[in-house]
Amino acid sequence: MFDVVVIGAGFSGLQAAYTAKQAGLSVSVIEARDRVGGKIWSVPLASGRGFAELGGAWVNDSLQPRVWAYAQKFGLEVVKQRLEGKAVMQESENERFEFPFGTTPEFTPSEKKNLEFIRDHFQAESLKKGLPSAEVDNVSLDQYVRSLGALPKIAKMVNLWSQVMHGLESTEESAAWFIDYCRRNKGFLAIRADDSTGGQYLRFQDGLCTQYECHERKANVYLKGAQSIAQGLSNLLGNDNIHLSCPVKATDNYDSHVTITTRNGKIFQAKKCIVSVPSTMYKEFNFTPALPVYQYDELI
Ligand SMILES: Cc1cc2nc3c(=O)[nH]c(=O)nc-3n(C[C@H](O)[C@H](O)[C@H](O)COP(=O)(O)OP(=O)(O)OC[C@H]3O[C@@H](n4cnc5c(N)ncnc54)[C@H](O)[C@@H]3O)c2cc1C
Repeated sequence: MFDVVVIGAGFSGLQAAYTAKQAGLSVSVIEARDRVGGKIWSVPLASGRGFAELGGAWVNDSLQPRVWAYAQKFGLEVVKQRLEGKAVMQESENERFEFPFGTTPEFTPSEKKNLEFIRDHFQAESLKKGLPSAEVDNVSLDQYVRSLGALPKIAKMVNLWSQVMHGLESTEESAAWFIDYCRRNKGFLAIRADDSTGGQYLRFQDGLCTQYECHERKANVYLKGAQSIAQGLSNLLGNDNIHLSCPVKATDNYDSHVTITTRNGKIFQAKKCIVSVPSTMYKEFNFTPALPVYQYDELI
């Protein structure tokens, strides 16, 4: 029996497992996919020249000190986000805008004004303290911006924000959740900024990391893109302790231990279990005892 089993090998699950390991506990991580990293996924380009980041790609050395510390520990190279040239926004197969980086896309003057109004509204909201009201939690982000008077193109732009920030459509998350996320991350503009004040400041490069601690020894390991942080953590945990391609279907919580059952028939037992998957995935789980109804409804 393990001291701790962690479900989900995204950044948060791997960090939870590593913290437990550092505390001297025996740990196992169970992951549904055939790779670690979750929403961080660096995929080799067909040309063989580098990687495409299909998930998280940027880091800020002062706003994200933990990820930054790992980047340094694993010897990862970063490049600064370019702040000039063209930006491209593709809304659908047929709708594509190009505009000088750092400016508002080529919208009509009224659309531009509308976008600036919505942007400034979120910035002002995200600098307030406390939790957004329950009322704001009862409407989707999309409904919220439309009620503020967002024009169709601007509502699409807001959808783009929620897609890139959370991997969700603006119809799928509540306005309160979006605002709360901005409040917890130093404001909307800081999240969207591409310079040293914001979330899109530094990008990982691929490269060879020669000297870092891996299974208590120095190793030569080829690391690539943002996913190499997850791979580095996995190496520190010991890859044998990470069970890939094992989607969990049930957790049974007894007084003395937890039993975790996967869809491919594996059973793990641990004194404690940490569930580190997006809450929208909870509906895929059979929790025994069941989550309290209010918690289940709120999370899903
Ligand atoms: C497109 C995109 C771009 C982003 N860009 C950035 C960025 O540039 N910088 C930044 O800091 N952040 C960025 N983010 C946010 C960042 O990627 C996430 O906050 C972070 O990766 C979330 O990590 P997590 O461990 O909480 O969740 P996840 O990464 O979602 O990990 C959860 C893990 O649980 C696994 N899982 C799910 N169900 C089961 C099951 N039943 N059994 C076992 N395992 C299961 C999943 O496969 C997954 O591996 C971006 C997100 C997206 C979607």
